[in-house]
Amino acid sequence: HTVFVSFLRDITHQVQAEADLERARDEARAGEKAKSDLLTVMSHEMRTPLNGILGSLELLKRDPLSERQLRSLRAAKLSGDLLLSHVNDVLDLSRFEGVQEAAANVPFDLPELVEGLMTAQSAPAKARGTALRAQYLTDGLTHVLGDPAALNRCLVNLVGNAVKFTQDGEILVEIERLQDGATVEIRVSDTGSGIPEDKIDSIFDEFVTVDPSFGRESGGTGLGLAITKRLVTRMGGSIMVDSIEGEGSLFQITLPLPQVEAPLQAAEAEVE
Ligand code: ADP
Repeated sequence: HTVFVSFLRDITHQVQAEADLERARDEARAGEKAKSDLLTVMSHEMRTPLNGILGSLELLKRDPLSERQLRSLRAAKLSGDLLLSHVNDVLDLSRFEGVQEAAANVPFDLPELVEGLMTAQSAPAKARGTALRAQYLTDGLTHVLGDPAALNRCLVNLVGNAVKFTQDGEILVEIERLQDGATVEIRVSDTGSGIPEDKIDSIFDEFVTVDPSFGRESGGTGLGLAITKRLVTRMGGSIMVDSIEGEGSLFQITLPLPQVEAPLQAAEAEVE
C-alpha cells in the first residue's frame, strides 16, 4: 500500500513538473513573440519619418551652405543612414523568421556573385592591411540553382565581419562542391581577433556582440549573424563557426545548390 501511494505521489509530482515546464516554455515563447512584435512595429513606425529626415537633408545639400553647415549636414546624414540600416536589420530579422517567404530558386553564377563581393570588400580590407582572396576548389559552379540575393546577403555579412575583425591579416573565401553534387560548402576564414569560447554558442543569437563598446563604435547591432542564420536555414542549409580567440575564425555555410541541367540547345543537339 505504502509503495503504491509513494508511486502515485511520484507520478503526480512528475506530471506537475512537466506541466510547470510546459507553462514556463509557453511564457518564454509569448515573451519572445511580444519582443519581436514590438521591435517590428517600432522599426516600421521609425522608417517613414527617418526616410523623411534623410530626404530633407538631401534637399538641404542643394542650398548654398557654409563649410561648417555642410560638416553638420554630413554628420547628420551619416548617423541617419546608420540608424536606417539598424532599423532595416530589425525588420529583416522578423521577415526572415519562419517560412513566410520562400527562398528563391533561380539559376545563377556563383563565382560571379563571389567576385562581386570581393570587389566590394577589397578596399575596406586593404585599408585594414588585410589580404582578401577567393578560391574555387571545384568546377561546375557557374550554373547553380538557388537564392542569389539571400546568399549574397549572407556572404556580405560574413566577409564584412571578417574584414571588421581582422587587422593586418588574411581572409580566405573557399568554395567547394561536395561529392553528392548538389551541396556546396562556402568557408570564410580569417586570421583576426577570434571569438572567446564562452561567446561562441550565442554568436548567432540576436543582439549578441563580443565587445559592446567595439560594436557601438563600429555600428554593429549584433543582428548580422542572426539574419544570416535565418536566411541559411530558409535556403535549406546550415551554418557553423569555429574560432580561437586571438587566432582567427572560420564560418562555414553548407547549402543545397544543385547544378542546373545542361542548356536545352545542347541537349537537343545531342539527340539529333
Ligand atoms: P555585428 O553587427 O555586431 O557585426 P554580427 O551578428 O554580425 O553583428 O556579429 C556578432 C558578433 O560576433 C560581433 O559583434 C563580433 O563580436 C563577433 N564576430 C562575428 N564575426 C566575427 C569574426 N569574423 N571575427 C571575430 N568576431 C566576430
